[in-house]
Amino acid sequence: MRAAVLTVGDELICGYRLDTNSQAISRRLSLLPAEVVLHLSVGDDVEAIRRGLDFALGAADVVVVSGGLGPTEDDLTRQAIAAHFGLELVEDAEALRRILERFARSGRVMPESNRIQAQVPAGSVVIYNDRGTAAGFYLKRDGKHIFVTPGIPDEMEGMLEQFILPTLQREAGTDHSVLRAVLKVYGLPESQINELIRPMLARGRNPLLGLLPHRGTITIEVAATGATPEEAEVLLQADLAALRRHLGRYIISEDERELPQVVADLLTERELTIATAELGTGGLVAARLTQPGESGRWFLRGLVLRPPVQSVREEHTVCADEARRLARDVRAAAGSDIGVGVGALIVPEDSTPARPYGVVYIAADFQGREIHRRLSFNGDRSRVREWAADAALSLVRLGILGEA
Ligand code: AMP
Ligand code: MG
Repeated sequence: MRAAVLTVGDELICGYRLDTNSQAISRRLSLLPAEVVLHLSVGDDVEAIRRGLDFALGAADVVVVSGGLGPTEDDLTRQAIAAHFGLELVEDAEALRRILERFARSGRVMPESNRIQAQVPAGSVVIYNDRGTAAGFYLKRDGKHIFVTPGIPDEMEGMLEQFILPTLQREAGTDHSVLRAVLKVYGLPESQINELIRPMLARGRNPLLGLLPHRGTITIEVAATGATPEEAEVLLQADLAALRRHLGRYIISEDERELPQVVADLLTERELTIATAELGTGGLVAARLTQPGESGRWFLRGLVLRPPVQSVREEHTVCADEARRLARDVRAAAGSDIGVGVGALIVPEDSTPARPYGVVYIAADFQGREIHRRLSFNGDRSRVREWAADAALSLVRLGILGEA
């Protein structure tokens, strides 16, 4: 099954908004598995949408269209697709009822312009929207499948999960099951992961593995295909076991949780409290730690200190010592189990605008047991700060687990 994604919106092609829908749609389709062969974005223009659809249909059996189903004059996707197939737009009573109900629930009267969001090309299957107003639709033409969804990522994703994927699974009459698992790794560069699990990363292998890096965290996706769900499950579990063996303590979660949530869960589980004092990271460690909603239970205090102004040479020793002192002092002052200190982020003298880097000292005091690290990151100040904050969270995690 070959698939194409067509996104519609002036903002996407003018550089005002990143087209994240293509990414999200492709990621899910590729696990069907469908081979995604094309991404195409066009502006809010009937002719452009028709040309885009034509091109996409020439390349694929499945076309997922997103965007341009809004209530305003520049939302033209439904008109363009109806015109392309020579179909009338008809109002779907159930879609209209849902839109009216949505407005009524929030105590508003539906503006007349929203009525068009209940229209679909005659003969298409309506994809109801339980996250917004615009109805989507599904057309089958000459053995090709065309799905049309709103551009709002949340609404698009709802339709993708609830309608598009199940429909394709049914339509394609797949005689196999695909099971998927995700795990997140922190602290190992991609190249090193590649060395450790190289045979598992071969293209065309089953299960198929994918690496998605974001800062220091690398998400590993595993998709196992089997004749039955049981067979897929066996393959999936075997790979997960192998990954655990090879990557060990670097695996931070076996789900979608990122470092802040992983640390939060550990603190909650072990009933530990924490306080931070940061010099040079502008409170980013505290910001990350307080991301999870429940942080009020264990986050006791966060200090942001003035970065030092001494010469760079002096700074190194000052910062190394400072990080350790801050960790101790903030723990004592807050009365927490854990104190985290970040020594100044330094952009050293030999760091050039072309090749900037920073050195960060991170220390943590775990009820009197101290661990500390000197880390170096490439990039400008803001990048170094982001990486430093993640590194501090990772150190807290390893410290709690007794692995640092
Ligand atoms: P629309 O369905 O075209 O009215 O889009 C509604 C909202 O979703 C707008 O804020 C768009 O900028 C956003 N949006 C549309 N298409 C995409 C896309 N491909 N990726 C991310 N956001 C999008
Ligand atoms: Mg739009």
